[in-house]
Amino acid sequence: MSNVKKINSIGYAHKIIGLALLFLAAVPALCYLLSQIFPAALFIRLIYISLGIGVLISLFFAGLLAIELRQDRKINREYANVKKQKLTLGNGKFECQSCGNRQVNGDDNRCCVCGTTFSV
Ligand SMILES: [Zn+2]
Repeated sequence: MSNVKKINSIGYAHKIIGLALLFLAAVPALCYLLSQIFPAALFIRLIYISLGIGVLISLFFAGLLAIELRQDRKINREYANVKKQKLTLGNGKFECQSCGNRQVNGDDNRCCVCGTTFSV
């Protein structure tokens, strides 16, 4: 397992999407309205700047999602490697890595809860 923090978009996705929508839709709409009232080229420029910021935020979010999916794949692979093992608990009992049953004996070759056949 690497030391890189695990990214979980569940906690922040709505905030980033909201921020992107603000710059992609809300601010440009407001600037467009203002440009209709006050004829100034500044508002048109602000629309483009806001759209640019919105696109950057969207790209940043897409990058984070890509990293998160790669982390999930790696965790799945590591879990697949250990789920057929029993982990010693130090008190003569073992833990099934597939279901977490902590009442596995040293000479058991199957988990009595989930039925996993241990490879070691
Ligand atoms: Zn089990």
